[in-house]
Amino acid sequence: MDLSKHAFFEGRIVPLGEAKVNIATHGFLYGTSVFSGMRAYWSEEKKRLFVFRPYDHFHRLLNSAKMMAMTIPYDEESLIQLTLDVLQTDDWKQDVYLRPTIYKADMGIGVRLHDLKDEFSMFVMAFEKYVKNDSNAHVTFSSWRRIDDNVIPARGKIAGSYANSALIKTDANRAGFDEAIVLDNHGHISEGSAMNFFMVRDGVLVTPPITDNILEGITRNSVIELARSEMGLQVVERSIDRTEVFIAEEAFMTGTAAQVVSVTKVDYRPIGAGTMGPITTKLRSLFDDVVRAKLPKYNKWNVEV
Ligand code: PMP
Repeated sequence: MDLSKHAFFEGRIVPLGEAKVNIATHGFLYGTSVFSGMRAYWSEEKKRLFVFRPYDHFHRLLNSAKMMAMTIPYDEESLIQLTLDVLQTDDWKQDVYLRPTIYKADMGIGVRLHDLKDEFSMFVMAFEKYVKNDSNAHVTFSSWRRIDDNVIPARGKIAGSYANSALIKTDANRAGFDEAIVLDNHGHISEGSAMNFFMVRDGVLVTPPITDNILEGITRNSVIELARSEMGLQVVERSIDRTEVFIAEEAFMTGTAAQVVSVTKVDYRPIGAGTMGPITTKLRSLFDDVVRAKLPKYNKWNVEV
């Protein structure tokens, strides 16, 4: 893995090797940390790096922290500045992934959230594709259920809840699938292991609502806006049943790491014609243009390094 040479750790930028937490740290022992996964894209045309929607990522991160009774001395704007500093330190000239984390930093035993100090850290890594077959993914319905909002906040990006995502991903991959669709405890589709779900039915783009235990994805939000504004598509947020997917015209999944992954087969059933459909194709190319700062209308989402 091509990791950054420097990281932000305990209030300053340090060489990555110095950014270490003790094995007795609360966040390590109990999964009491919250994080975001952001990307910065290299524009060959402009010879610059652009961070994609950092304000929204940090806003969601601070909301996750709020749910977990964490406070740090930074707001969205200061976190963006700190991100630019970290990226400039290593002078990245390629697509990268950034991992900011807020964690319970005290050492010792004791399950709770209160009366513990919180720290913020961030490292960077070179990053390209997350799902190998991103234009023709074969996915399965996971036998695992998505965490429920009354178990661990589902709309928060909380490290401990990724044990659920890891079970989902590993069982799907070991069974030969690229990814899995996960149902919630009511039997409705929630999302994938770490990506949101969309399908096209009768020309309408449909995705589960934020009340079906999904993570409120920033790529999901971007795709909804692009579908409405650039393609004039109707987008409906409603619960989706399992068998609707089998008869959908198109399906895809979205995430910062995954970007827009075309799902062409679900449990051996072809979706639509069994190849990437026109709506998915168009959204993928629009999204790629937007993240590389090629569409001026969406430059509000690109923060130049
Ligand atoms: N769901 C989960 C559980 C995730 O981890 C992610 C990745 N952050 C997503 C959905 C997609 O969210 P985003 O588009 O903000 O990356």
